[in-house]
Order: sequence, then C-alpha cells, then structure tokens
Amino acid sequence: MNDEYDLETLAVRAGTVRSQFNEHSEAMFLTSSFVFSSAAEAAARFKGEQPGPIYARFTNPTVNMMEARLAALEGAERCVAFSSGMAAILATVMGLMKAGEHIVASRSIFGSTVQLFSNILGRFGIETTYVSPTDPAEWRAALKPNTKLFFVESPSNPLTEVSDIRALATIAREAGAWLAVDNCFCSPALQRPLDLGADIVIHSATKYLDGQGRVLGGAVLGSQILMEGVYTFLRTAGPTLSAFNAWVILKGLETLSIRMDAHSRNALELAKWLEAQPQVARVLYPGLPSHPQHALAMAQQKTGGGIVAFDLKGGKDAAWKLIDATKLLSITANLGDTKSTITHPSSTTHSRMTPEQRDAAGIGDGLVRIAVGLESVSDIKADLARGLA
Ligand SMILES: *Cc1c(COP(=O)(O)O)cnc(C)c1O
Repeated sequence: MNDEYDLETLAVRAGTVRSQFNEHSEAMFLTSSFVFSSAAEAAARFKGEQPGPIYARFTNPTVNMMEARLAALEGAERCVAFSSGMAAILATVMGLMKAGEHIVASRSIFGSTVQLFSNILGRFGIETTYVSPTDPAEWRAALKPNTKLFFVESPSNPLTEVSDIRALATIAREAGAWLAVDNCFCSPALQRPLDLGADIVIHSATKYLDGQGRVLGGAVLGSQILMEGVYTFLRTAGPTLSAFNAWVILKGLETLSIRMDAHSRNALELAKWLEAQPQVARVLYPGLPSHPQHALAMAQQKTGGGIVAFDLKGGKDAAWKLIDATKLLSITANLGDTKSTITHPSSTTHSRMTPEQRDAAGIGDGLVRIAVGLESVSDIKADLARGLA
C-alpha cells in the first residue's frame, strides 16, 4: 500500500497483519517461540524457504508489523527494529563494516554515539574522523580509501545544526561509502532522508516514534541488500525489540504526524519568544529566520521540529538557575515526549566529552535545550519566565 497512500494514512494502516481472529487493532504476540506443523515445515522455515516466524530473537509478528509500518513511513524497502537507538547504531556498524575501515561522522552527534565510535569501535579497529555537520567540504577532505560510512544527525543534538543531506549523499556515493542519517529529531513526518539520497536511516524510537516517553526502541532502515547485514547481526547477537515495546511504538506511530505538527507549532512560538528575552544570547531553532541554516532546513524538512536550544548570557549559573526554577517542565535528558523537558547538555548528555570536544562542537556551559511538548505554550513560557527573571 506504500505508493498509493499519504503518510498520515500509512501511519495508521501500513503493516497490519491480522491473526485467525481478525482483530481490528494490531495484536501483541507475547511468545518466545513458534510451533511448526511438521518436521519438514520446521526445516523449511530454518532454511528460509518458507516465510514465517521461528523464534522471537529475530521474528515476532508484532515487531514485524512495527517494522513494516515504519518502513512505509520512511519510504524504505526494509526496517530492522532494535531494543534501543544505540543498539540500532551499533548494529549498523557491526552489520556493514569490518576492522580496518573508516567512518566520517558529524562532530555534533549524540554523546553516546561519540563514545561508541571512539571508545568501543576504536578498540576493534574501526576509526572515526569527526567533521563539521554544516561544511560538506570537510567530509570530502576527511575521505580515506577505506571510508565506508558517513554518519550524521540532522538537525543535530543539542545545537540543531542542519546538514545538507543531498550534498553529503553525493560525496558518499562518489567515494563508495554509505550515508547514514540519524533521523531522531525530525521523524519521517518531517523529513525523509532516503528521498534526499541517504542510504540508511537510523531511529531512536524512544523519542518521537513512541512519543510519550514510555519505552526504548530503535530501528535501521534502507534497501533489502543493506538491511540483510544489519538483520544478520540482530539475529545472531540479539539486541531485539520486545513485542510489548514494538506494540507501544506501533500505536505511537498512528499519531506521529499530528504530534510532530503540534510540537513544531509550540517550538516555533517558544523560539520566537526566547529570542526577545534580554537574558538570552542566541536561540537555535531551524524554523527561525535567524538560524544559520534556515533556508536549507526549510528545503529538506517540513517544519523546524520540536527542539529549541539557547545560550544564556549568564553561563552555567544562569542555566542551572533557570532549570531549577521550573515547576512544569521536566528536568530530564529525554526528548520527543508529550511532556516538555529541559536539559543542560554540558553537564549531562554531553558531559563525557572532554571540554575541548565540547568547545569544538559549540556546546557551551550556558546552553539549555528544551524538547517542547504538547502543553499550552503560554504555560511553558510562564514556567521559563520565572527562572529568566
Ligand atoms: C536518544 C538518542 C539516541 C539513542 O537512543 P536510545 O534509544 O536512547 O538508545 C541516538 N541518537 C539521538 C539523536 C538520540 O536523541
């Protein structure tokens, strides 16, 4: 049904498979294994000659429904689900690369991704070079004969820098490398990286795809051929999404589009308001004309998204004071929730980077990130106004 329908329709309809009971809403299959009707059928399933579930480490109907629905939304041939976003990123590298190969990654990526690439994969002979998310020339200059993967988040966390996905895809293709985009901040409701030329899309489903802060999950999407390697890693190593979490995410996807529009509306209004506050040095939101990559963002995203970052003139003291004065916003590092969250990146999500790495990435001590939720935006402003005063 993927070519025939719009995203809103696919979000509630794609991927549904009904059991013998013909249930309307998708069922949750809480079972670790599946029974075969004969020894011959068991053999055929294991050989891959007959489709159908075998064992829930790598085949579960609820997980498969969620994968099919997300694949439809991203316009991907195949989706492989994982237990978390980090498991999805690990599986991408483990499934597609080998020791002695090289990654070029944006300097402005999720803190745990930097730790994974530098401290863990580095020990297994995979080297990573970090470059500017906003300067494609740096990506070209970082290429080596053994470069296999470009890895970028756009917009980035927490600075909302926007990368030119089309330009990076062209450079990667010419070099025989794959471009992977962590599409966590936009979700397919706002941006479809495969349409822009990327080879792989990665999700932390923990964020907007669930959308209500309930479960962890992750996904990798791309062509059948690329996903075969990623799936083989899942099947063998087992960072599997549980059927329960898949069912929660499947239900989250049904409201993705209307949630993303509402998050974006609130975030744009909050960003405009923050820009007018004298205590605020700068506001980083792709939907604001003042954002350095505003035009690019509007060309490849539907809206500016739900994340707003801003620097306070008063540095860390002012940032902590603002955070501690809130009564409504949640002080937590999560994002993509219906509830607004407020974070001080330099002392939390990005605290494991060295001060030099943080400086290079532009994550100062006065930086505050708000993942704007679905509360009334007047109430969010009032909560912040107290701490700014
Ligand atoms: C949260 C996040 C991740 C990691 O996802 P988990 O589900 O927490 O493992 C990866 N990338 C980005 C951009 C994130 O925000």
